[in-house]
Amino acid sequence: MRILVLGGTTEASALARLLAERPGWETTLSLAGRTARPQPLPVATRIGGFGGAEGLARWLSDNGTMAVVDATHPFAAVISRNAAAACRAAGVPLLFLRRPPWRAAAGDRWIEAASMPEAARALGSERRCVFLTVGRLELAAFAAAPQHRYLVRTIEPIGDALPVPNLVAIRERGPFDAADERALMTREGVEVLVSKNSGGEATYGKIAAARALGLPVVMVARPDKPDGERVATPEAALEWLAAHERAP
Ligand code: NAP
Repeated sequence: MRILVLGGTTEASALARLLAERPGWETTLSLAGRTARPQPLPVATRIGGFGGAEGLARWLSDNGTMAVVDATHPFAAVISRNAAAACRAAGVPLLFLRRPPWRAAAGDRWIEAASMPEAARALGSERRCVFLTVGRLELAAFAAAPQHRYLVRTIEPIGDALPVPNLVAIRERGPFDAADERALMTREGVEVLVSKNSGGEATYGKIAAARALGLPVVMVARPDKPDGERVATPEAALEWLAAHERAP
């Protein structure tokens, strides 16, 4: 069975490892190419866009793809829309592998924001020390609030993505432990955290640390993704694929 996994997440990598062990299944993992040195994985990997929904539909037909798992990040909305359209056009079954969002727990002080500009406004007019963990490509919205001191953590260098006078950049890839996050936030005098509601374990440490320190979190809500069959774990995706192999 030929499978395409749309990746770029911890769950996609875990699924790729599981699929590599299935004899007779040929898996291709697709990455957008945003990370300079992606983790090597034991399946064929292709890097770069397909050229929209039409390009993806063509790729599926050209490669005899029998199933697609969209395991992209909850905030990657365009590729998921394209996957839904392309699979419909090519007649290929599609599964979404998506981790559930985080839910506020007792002691959390979340300020919900529907978008990055709304998150930037939610920081207020007073100068605050902001721990910004929204990813390199989302930083520009915070240029509208240059009065704050920003501690920005990203995987790739940020260049001049956030032109503000008071910024400290950290380059690091998760997972991040709650105790380390707490130590970092205390050391840097962080007063408020900004996070996407990405869900999952790997980056939950900062949320737990903010709760322990009594700090507010500006939590940016997920964009809409298409409806469709959905599971939350790589193991459940494997079961779905096995069922499709038995009854295509
Ligand atoms: P996006 O806005 O949904 O997609 C923009 C374009 O990038 C798509 O139209 C597609 O180009 C290409 N693309 C995206 N994911 C791809 C994939 N897995 N394989 C091949 N092409 C892909 O995506 P994004 O928010 O920029 O995220 C890019 C990638 O980074 C995703 O794969 C996602 O899983 C990962 N990621 C995103 C975030 C986030 O917060 N957004 C966080 C962590 C990881 P074409 O139209 O040319 O096909």
